[in-house]
Amino acid sequence: GNADIECDVLVLGAGPGGYSAAFRAADLGLDVVLVERYPTLGGVCLNVGCIPSKALLHSVAVLEEARSLAAHGIAFGEPQIDLDKLRAYKDGVIGKLTGGLAGMARARKVTVVQGAGRFVDPFHLQVEGEGGTKVVKFGSAIIAAGSEAVKLPFLPQDERIVDSTGALKLKAIPERMLIIGGGIIGLEMGTVYSALGARLDVVEMLPGLMPGADRDLVKVWEKMNARRFDRVMLETRTVSAEARDDGIWVKFEGKNAPDEPQRYDLVLQAVGRRPNGAAIGADAAGVQVDERGFIAVDKQMRTNVPHIHAIGDIVGQPMLAHKAVHEGHVAAEAIAGHKSFFDARVIPSVAYTDPEIAWVGLTEDEARKQGVKYDKGVFPWAASGRAIANGRDEGFTKLLFDADTGRILGGGIVGTHAGDLISEVVLAVEMGADAVDIGKTIHPHPTLGESVGMAAEVAKGTCT
Ligand code: FAD
Repeated sequence: GNADIECDVLVLGAGPGGYSAAFRAADLGLDVVLVERYPTLGGVCLNVGCIPSKALLHSVAVLEEARSLAAHGIAFGEPQIDLDKLRAYKDGVIGKLTGGLAGMARARKVTVVQGAGRFVDPFHLQVEGEGGTKVVKFGSAIIAAGSEAVKLPFLPQDERIVDSTGALKLKAIPERMLIIGGGIIGLEMGTVYSALGARLDVVEMLPGLMPGADRDLVKVWEKMNARRFDRVMLETRTVSAEARDDGIWVKFEGKNAPDEPQRYDLVLQAVGRRPNGAAIGADAAGVQVDERGFIAVDKQMRTNVPHIHAIGDIVGQPMLAHKAVHEGHVAAEAIAGHKSFFDARVIPSVAYTDPEIAWVGLTEDEARKQGVKYDKGVFPWAASGRAIANGRDEGFTKLLFDADTGRILGGGIVGTHAGDLISEVVLAVEMGADAVDIGKTIHPHPTLGESVGMAAEVAKGTCT
């Protein structure tokens, strides 16, 4: 055909999955083209996801910690909140990282083509960009087109009704905010807005917030965060909303629905994400996309078309950046002829709320449902010198072990820095460690990390 560019590997989408795949493929000596519709690399995660949310969560965590210091005899005045500067800080963080990615792409001689890509046949992708249309001919392809927020069809178009991308713009601090969907993304954004002064309501269809995490972990978060909420509406649905001058009036139905419509200054819809599989011309390449937009892959991230792989949010749950990165590496290595497979035992989850909640592997809830016989080791942070010194001893660390073999099956942590602490548990699961391995590992004192060793020590059968 008449291609404008030819390459060994085409990567469609420059999120964590796509740029990781592109960089790994280039490092393995392949000629790579990376196609991205937006002007910056990094996808959802860097531009409107993981990173901006963590920049804002950091700022408000410091704000709330500063407030709490009054109890230690150190008091500040009321904080002066300058939203323009806070936004600029967040945008600066994004800029550093996306700029860094652009430099890394150049250093590896990855050709970045800006524009929306669509397959035209199994070996060609057409890119519509500002400079016109380009056709890329490829030997292999990696689809990494990611996902977007689900929009509730009955909500009106109004700038006071936003998804996570809109919430991260931080246009103003509302007096009353409704969060539709009590999962990680909704509650992280709620934490930010609440710390800046908003009163929150949350509505969730399921019987509990943070679905997926064990209830004992969530309970600790709930106790610490109850002060942020006027209403926690579980087993309740949003059924309609009306945009009026004085606010967004929302009606609810279900177990905890108020009788009257409620007025909000800002409504965040955080009810999940759906894959971008519909608009990439997958048909033309022969790649099967299911009715929800997901693409099925094998353990080498190969689609039904052997030279086309797919990775990240577009191949399914969990929709997490670290999963996308790992899959990107597998796909690039497989294309380079390596015997790489996706064989990770576990993928950790973290809610970067305050306190954080992190979990990995088998949860206690799943263990009970599946009838798995397990021993549990729990270490309450009320017995951790470091947590007490930090004034944050509400957390705990929980490890689950196979009752027969003693091997670790999973674990959960709630408390400050739980997201950083869970990595040791992830490594333990990957290494097939048992309670003795972890309990007899010397952890530095006094650290929150000690709680992992202590939890292993209190598990049954390790005090030999
Ligand atoms: P994406 O990051 O979605 O990237 C896909 C890219 O493909 C996009 O840049 C898109 O523009 C591009 N694209 C799509 N179609 C085309 C096309 N036809 N042509 C050209 N380009 C195209 N995950 C975590 O692990 N930790 C977190 O703390 C975390 N926080 C989050 C917070 C928020 C608010 C949100 C929304 C998500 C968060 N996530 C987090 C999830 C994380 O962002 C995603 O799992 C991750 O970005 C998925 O990476 P990906 O490479 O599959 O796709």
